[in-house]
Amino acid sequence: MSSVPPPSSDDEERISRLEDELLALELENNRLQQILRDSEYDKKALVDIQKIANVGTWRLNHLTYHVKLSEKLSTMLDIPIRKSMPWSAFITALDPHNELGLKQSLQDVFMGGSAMNFEHTITRLDGSLIHVRHHCETHLNGIGQPLDSIGLVQDITQDKERAAQLEMLSNKDDLTCLYNRRKMNQALTEEAAICMDNGLPLSGILLDLDNFKQVNDRFGHHVGDEVLVRVSEAIQNSLRLSDIASRWGGEEFLILCPNTALDDAEVVAERIRQAIEHIQLSCEHSITASFGVGSLHSAQDLPEMLKRIDMALYEAKKAGRNCVRVIC
Ligand code: GH3
Ligand code: MG
Ligand code: MG
Repeated sequence: MSSVPPPSSDDEERISRLEDELLALELENNRLQQILRDSEYDKKALVDIQKIANVGTWRLNHLTYHVKLSEKLSTMLDIPIRKSMPWSAFITALDPHNELGLKQSLQDVFMGGSAMNFEHTITRLDGSLIHVRHHCETHLNGIGQPLDSIGLVQDITQDKERAAQLEMLSNKDDLTCLYNRRKMNQALTEEAAICMDNGLPLSGILLDLDNFKQVNDRFGHHVGDEVLVRVSEAIQNSLRLSDIASRWGGEEFLILCPNTALDDAEVVAERIRQAIEHIQLSCEHSITASFGVGSLHSAQDLPEMLKRIDMALYEAKKAGRNCVRVIC
């Protein structure tokens, strides 16, 4: 049996070098694994951030003209998550009928290398509509050619809906749900301008409930409130869609009748008067109202028209209430 020769000093040196190299490779492997873990962590953090902020992103490579959508943007647009998609398909998903002109707007950003912010709507594949705030910018190379473009798309649908709801609430009277005085003042100015510009007549009707204080005193404030609601319904049911009714004050209502001459407004007022007279209350008390009717002479005449209508109402009260008075 032959015995293994003892390692020479050269062998020992080689073994020691190999052990050092192995150790270095293990250390390098550990370092790369750590980088990979950090990168996975950053990627997950980015996905979480996009979800929380309701922001999706896209990145367009100008060499391949393919765009990569973030997971959040794919969900937002209801597009299946893919590695990348052609730019033309992405634009078609955002703006299928080119109604928003997005293709041209984004093209301008690409060519100019500038940044742009805009708001627009997107119809998702399932037909639902979302409102987005879109930021897009392009990075150019050293000779001014577009290298890549990025887009940030924030879903602001809930903000828009909340703003619209607040706007609606701020225009309405809490009790009757008719327009309040603030909104009516705005409508008066707008309708006056439209009618005068188009050579159309515009009339106004002011009505005030008769002896309303007695209703509160005899039956309580809650019955008074119920009467105001029932009167508002009677008014609404007696008007055309284009007429605008408002609660002008406590038990006073102002109605605006665009494209309506004085004679026709008088007919409308008489119809409302009768409707109020026929309201049946649980307390069996009957209610009536007095009416003043007038119309606009010029766009600058608004304050004077309101004064004239108020005078006509005063005349109706003086004449014994529950009647309509017209002033030219
Ligand atoms: P007139 O025929 O001269 O108009 O008499 P009136 O009693 O209707 O008029 P007056 O101005 O003396 O009283 C109006 C009453 O309307 C007094 C007020 O308490 C009541 N009122 C105003 N706003 C409301 C409301 O929101 N709810 C209730 N229940 N009452 C209201
Ligand atoms: Mg009054
Ligand atoms: Mg009154």
